[in-house]
Amino acid sequence: MTLAADANTVETATMWIAVAALAASLVAVGIAWWNGHSSRRSADAAEGSKNAADRSADAAKDSADAASRALRVDLERAHRELEPDRETATFVTEVNPRTDRECLFLVMTPARPYLVHADYVFDTGGRTPLSWRDSNVLATGVEAKVFVAEVADFKPGHVEIRFFPAPDQAGHEPWTCECGQPTAGDHADRGHWVMRKRWIPPQPPMVAWA
Ligand SMILES: [Zn+2]
Repeated sequence: MTLAADANTVETATMWIAVAALAASLVAVGIAWWNGHSSRRSADAAEGSKNAADRSADAAKDSADAASRALRVDLERAHRELEPDRETATFVTEVNPRTDRECLFLVMTPARPYLVHADYVFDTGGRTPLSWRDSNVLATGVEAKVFVAEVADFKPGHVEIRFFPAPDQAGHEPWTCECGQPTAGDHADRGHWVMRKRWIPPQPPMVAWA
């Protein structure tokens, strides 16, 4: 072997080493690019699935809101359907045979049993509690009667009746209103339903003097 041939061999070897180093660094660049690319892709995928999760959480919340709105509407409709019918409450006047004085009563025949409290509320302010003739638990289909005033003493005002579902122990099918308002109370409480009825005294006949 000559010196020149040796030098050639060394040069060739050096060149191959350089090629190998270049190839290795290209591979390294490639791996780095791939890694970066895939982590970006998985970050994108994670972002995408987070958005999808947010969307499905929003959809679940919307449908829960819609369900609770629908339930609310149903309960309010049931509340109105269970309300005592004000058309069944009317005023009557009767002469008390003991005193021979004309008395004003309010009578009503409820479609379901209610616990009731009533007041005669004066236009000038103030009120007086009224007592139901038999019981303040009104039975289904039975006329209930409450004394308001003697007609001669009648002061302008209205009768306010506050209703609750009748208590379970009252010997009837238990029922209630599930709208969320109080379903029991005493005389001082606001009723679950409130009815106000006004009595207008009949005008005395006009007398025309010729
Ligand atoms: Zn109700």
